Amino acid sequence: MKLSAGFRNTYEEVPDLAKKFVNEAPNETGQRPKSKVSRDALVRTHQRHLKLLSEGSVPVRSLVLPKPYPPARGSVHATSTKTVHLGDLQIDSRDRDAVLLLRTITTPYVWSSTVAVVEDETGDVARVTVWNLEDNVVDPIVTKGSIIAIRQPCWTRLVDGGHHIRVDHPSDLVLLRPDDDLVPETWWNDEDLVTNRDPGQCKQDGDMMFLKKRFRQALELYTRGLQYVSNTPDPAAEIDLYRKRCGVSIVLLRLDDAANDLSEAIATHARSTPELSSSELTNASIVKAWLRNRSTEDPLHISSRIPRPLKELAARIKFDVGINQPTPDYNLPVISAYVGPLTLHVDAANYLCDTEVQNTGSHGRGQFAKRDFKEGDLICVEKAFVLPGYFMQDRNSDCLLYSLGDGTAAPRPGAWLFKELVQKLRWNPSLRKEFFDMTDGGYWEEHGWEVAEDEEIPVDVFRVEYIRRLNCFSAPTRSSDLLNQPPNSNPELRNGFWTHASYINHSCLPNTIRTFIGDLRFLRAARDIAAGEELTNQYVAPDIDINERREKFRTTWGFECDCQLCFTDGSVDKGIRKERLGQFEELKSMVMKLGEKGPPTITSLKKTARALREMEALYSPASAEGQGGEDPYATLPRLALVHPSLFLTEAWRSVKNVDRTIEYAIKLLRNFGIIARTEGKELKVDNQAGFVNVETVRALNYLAEGYTSRGEEELANQCLEKARLWYIIITGSEVGSEQFFGDFGL
Ligand SMILES: [Zn+2]
Repeated sequence: MKLSAGFRNTYEEVPDLAKKFVNEAPNETGQRPKSKVSRDALVRTHQRHLKLLSEGSVPVRSLVLPKPYPPARGSVHATSTKTVHLGDLQIDSRDRDAVLLLRTITTPYVWSSTVAVVEDETGDVARVTVWNLEDNVVDPIVTKGSIIAIRQPCWTRLVDGGHHIRVDHPSDLVLLRPDDDLVPETWWNDEDLVTNRDPGQCKQDGDMMFLKKRFRQALELYTRGLQYVSNTPDPAAEIDLYRKRCGVSIVLLRLDDAANDLSEAIATHARSTPELSSSELTNASIVKAWLRNRSTEDPLHISSRIPRPLKELAARIKFDVGINQPTPDYNLPVISAYVGPLTLHVDAANYLCDTEVQNTGSHGRGQFAKRDFKEGDLICVEKAFVLPGYFMQDRNSDCLLYSLGDGTAAPRPGAWLFKELVQKLRWNPSLRKEFFDMTDGGYWEEHGWEVAEDEEIPVDVFRVEYIRRLNCFSAPTRSSDLLNQPPNSNPELRNGFWTHASYINHSCLPNTIRTFIGDLRFLRAARDIAAGEELTNQYVAPDIDINERREKFRTTWGFECDCQLCFTDGSVDKGIRKERLGQFEELKSMVMKLGEKGPPTITSLKKTARALREMEALYSPASAEGQGGEDPYATLPRLALVHPSLFLTEAWRSVKNVDRTIEYAIKLLRNFGIIARTEGKELKVDNQAGFVNVETVRALNYLAEGYTSRGEEELANQCLEKARLWYIIITGSEVGSEQFFGDFGL
């Protein structure tokens, strides 16, 4: 088929147009489409799109979420549901109990969404667009001839005219087996029901599909094999099929199904093994409870009593569900060496028991220390709920997410996290309660509904996105990698989801630092913390300008920071605040120009130092009125001074002026809120309300260098000792410290 040059891909929504359309299209709710497209025309258009797809003529994947509406609930087989036909549907008007039965008559088009032409029982045709389900070209959710049930169906208008049936929530689309009671008799296909009666053949065909990465087909074949095996008992074949199906489910993030299958496999094994046939292992529900209990204990010695392949699957499921260990003992060098861009997922347990979520009384829920922690201690280690491991450089994995309802857009890391969250929640009802308990910024209040105690919570994709946006973390493959990046490089960070960690509140002066190694998120104490203290973390490094800072907190997360720095910065006279910013910008451009001219001259450094002193005056006690003459910044960071003091420290170092380097390194620490001073041969570092970060680690290194060249070895060693501890705090482990400190010749 030859395409005319002007043929446009109308299966891909242009987000800007779609947004405009959503806001401006006339309200046609309850009406029926005025015109109908013929079967031939629909199929022809579809084939042209398939051709575009095969030629690679597709834009970057855009996931488009329309205005929110609730998902269908309960079972498609419930007595309250009623079957409707295409001719019954109205525009934008959803009947919660309606079910539309359709059969696909084309191969699906799979890119941003999955599109297929379908017919109903009466022979009417339509285009169906399914969003937010696994959109894998090799293994599409529907194939030609699939029978599907669409719940609460309605017509949705397309930007370029015409109408389609659009599905956004996973529960609104149900794939039916050919022998399902709902399938109309005219669609029965005897062939589907007679082939592959032999479990061995099913297993073989399933294995073949698995190798071709057609996972859903593999599942289907193993399931069929298990049905046949139930007629003619054959424990070995049964165990094998359960084991295989369990493996596929793990690949597809279907942990609930995987745990069910493995429990059955273990119980069947026990029943057919004489020495286990009277043990608890014959009870699948006891085995399943063990698989899901998140404990490292194995009181029934299950893992030592089952064959190795089953034991390995059990370990896999337990790690993926999440195990909790009682101590912060990790072999960090081994874990760190294992982790890479393609190997993010680490077999390690969580360490959560010394922290707890509680009400703060003033700002919602928060996370609290259950025991005392010393500076540098591990407080909490958590494996990601979801951390997508896509290929950073691959154009095929480009993806953007648009929410038309509130006009937000998320780049690739957020879009991938959203996709994976929806899948994980869709297939694991047991994980939903914990997830949907997280803050959604008021979405549920506005759009939610009553959920009965025993009701399975359906996956509302709109709510998933609100929760994602408010609770996700940006994560490098390894935090230590960020230290070894060339300056000003901007590595792409992944977006991941750590449930327990989401409860920690922001403070500009946090008492903890978070780091990442693969899918493990570490929290370490940035200073000594007492039992019962609330744990805080910086969501982002605070902006110098208090107004911008507040604006960012409000618009991104919807909170007001009540930390001491925000209070103090906020109570400074407006004029002085403005002057600080003005001088900061002036000094910054002066420093930039100096940087361009090559090595600085002593005169230029003296000039910069004078300008810095003028700025320091803007932080003097007199600058903040009504504080009783005390210095309100005595222990607080002075953010506007950080950049110039960093420049001067490094500049004095570059001209080998040791005394000035030491003076300014101490100033730099001080401007980050860390008071360092020497008493004889002793270094005193007071960090009540400062930032530990890579710059403060460097400042300590500069000090160590300076003291070494002055022959003050004891002071130098104390600086280094502190720097090494802070290195662990900001990267999570000691890994890479040799290189980092080696670069300083220390
Ligand atoms: Zn603050």
